[in-house]
Amino acid sequence: MAKRVRRIGVMTSGGDSPGMNAAIRAVVRACAYYHTDCIGYYRGYQGMINGESIKLNARSVRNIVNQGGTILQSARSKAFLTEEGRARAAENLKKDEVDGMILIGGDGTFRGGQVFSKEHGISVIGVPGTIDNDIFGTNYAIGYDTALNTVVEAIDKIRDTASSHNRLFFVEVMGRDAGFIALNSGIGAGAEEILIPEENLGLERLLESLERSRRAGKTSSIVVVSEGDKIGKNVFELADYVKENLPNYDARVTVLGHIQRGGRPSCFDRVLASRLSVKAVELLLDGKKDLMVGMLNNEIESCSLDRALKGKHNINKELLKISEILST
Ligand code: ATP
Repeated sequence: MAKRVRRIGVMTSGGDSPGMNAAIRAVVRACAYYHTDCIGYYRGYQGMINGESIKLNARSVRNIVNQGGTILQSARSKAFLTEEGRARAAENLKKDEVDGMILIGGDGTFRGGQVFSKEHGISVIGVPGTIDNDIFGTNYAIGYDTALNTVVEAIDKIRDTASSHNRLFFVEVMGRDAGFIALNSGIGAGAEEILIPEENLGLERLLESLERSRRAGKTSSIVVVSEGDKIGKNVFELADYVKENLPNYDARVTVLGHIQRGGRPSCFDRVLASRLSVKAVELLLDGKKDLMVGMLNNEIESCSLDRALKGKHNINKELLKISEILST
């Protein structure tokens, strides 16, 4: 019979995302509900290595459901990539009598958790928290919805100035390997073109499309560019190329950058974080390990970390067609 889980650890790792606090709160409150101790580690794996922890009870997480960032802070830990680093983390967890860890983060965090569990036999459950939404096994990761709303609000503002001055704006949004933010915010904000890593539109087609828009009477345009788009070397080069080839356009660039990670989580992200995290605690209490929780078709499900890491969360190609139709 599996050993009874008496103490659960929780941490946030990798890039922070809005809703991580709601996730921490839900882990802590679910532990309290099920009469299980909860301990938080600061700065992800680095805090586990350094033994930087705090005992958490239901009252420790009051008034954080609405806050962006993470009260446990986040980090990328080079030391955890080494066997020695992971061994130090395992020693600290054993000293703290932690029976299982809940890891809130992205695919790197889950990869680390998988290695750690295999080497040291500590049960881990992953909760997907990343604005990029590039995790297989869940339709949505915590923070993605809030990031989309932030981007749409920013593009709405850019559109005001674009139309006042008849300008073409290239707006770079986050997403090095995945175009989820660009594609969905682009449709939501009514962008004329959306450039994503999954679909190489090509420079010629971009120029043709912009020319078509101009001839159709559009005096200003928004092009949403995912960080990882492969057309140009970067968004500035892309804008220069368009300026050279379409001198009628007054092209400008806005890089939205880190504002996309910040801000109060949307209601959707708070509810998602709450549902996923309660499930994560229940799985550990049930003796389960090496799983990731996710939301599929509005149901909370789980799959092995291995499957989550090997699978690919693809963009919905239908959205590309929608974008093309709507930019007519
Ligand atoms: P985001 O999607 O926001 O970037 P992430 O969880 O993917 O989040 P990473 O920086 O890739 O962020 O990973 C977080 C941490 O996980 C790393 O800093 C490292 O400490 C650990 N990690 C990643 N990959 C491994 C691995 N193969 N072995 C051990 N630890 C790893």
